[in-house]
Amino acid sequence: AVVMNGVNKWYGAHQVLYDINLEIAEGERVAVCGPSGSGKSTMIRTINQLEPHQSGHILVDGKEVVPGMKRIDLIRSDVGMVFQHFNLFPHLSVLENLTIAPRTVRGMSKRAAEEQAMTLLERVRIPEQAHKYPGQLSGGQQQRVAIARSLCMSPRIMLFDEPTSALDPEMVREVLDVMVQLAREHMTMVVVTHEMDFAREVADRIVFMDAGRIVEINPPEKFFTDPDSQRTRDFLRRIR
Ligand code: ATP
Ligand code: MG
Repeated sequence: AVVMNGVNKWYGAHQVLYDINLEIAEGERVAVCGPSGSGKSTMIRTINQLEPHQSGHILVDGKEVVPGMKRIDLIRSDVGMVFQHFNLFPHLSVLENLTIAPRTVRGMSKRAAEEQAMTLLERVRIPEQAHKYPGQLSGGQQQRVAIARSLCMSPRIMLFDEPTSALDPEMVREVLDVMVQLAREHMTMVVVTHEMDFAREVADRIVFMDAGRIVEINPPEKFFTDPDSQRTRDFLRRIR
């Protein structure tokens, strides 16, 4: 579970997050949407401290996440993250991308790490790509490797920042399918996305952000048919 309580963040003098209050229960799927620059990426990046917050409290499974904390690695190994641009290690094979962290961080044996990696590659439906390099894969395949790589650390929470935005349209579905499957397995997920059909299908609640604030949090049914906020209504009209 994630609890954000009164979280504020500035870049220099420029405030980009205002009083963020959000609780994500274990097993819950939350989609985050909103206009460009509204703070979606910044908000989810505070959860694993890729971006420090300046005030307020963030708890991950009951442990407070404090900017500059020494054992942030312990939080990060519980919180997997998948980015728009896959961020795979280009000089490592797919299999090595999936085994490096379990081996170095968790001290797993090469054999156990490879077995786990192959199981995960089967889950994302590309076991036959294990010995290729990222540059030899399609965007959709690379993104599925990135998801599998996160899962190798057995995270309790997965953060996704527009995981399909950089993909050619014909590859979006194969990545969303993997995410739908994760959702069915009750992974706790926070997904920044412009894929409103996906949000409707998978999310328990949708968060709408604008100008650094959470404007609305509602289940998809309510969010799409009868949103509380005029700003949400304007946003939905614009993206349709
Ligand atoms: P997008 O949909 O375009 O990805 P977003 O909702 O994810 O947008 P953020 O990237 O979180 O928005 O940015 C929120 C605000 O913070 C914006 O005003 C942005 O210009 C600013 N910002 C983001 N990263 C930095 C940075 N490293 N330094 C200074 N300002 C930043
Ligand atoms: Mg963003």
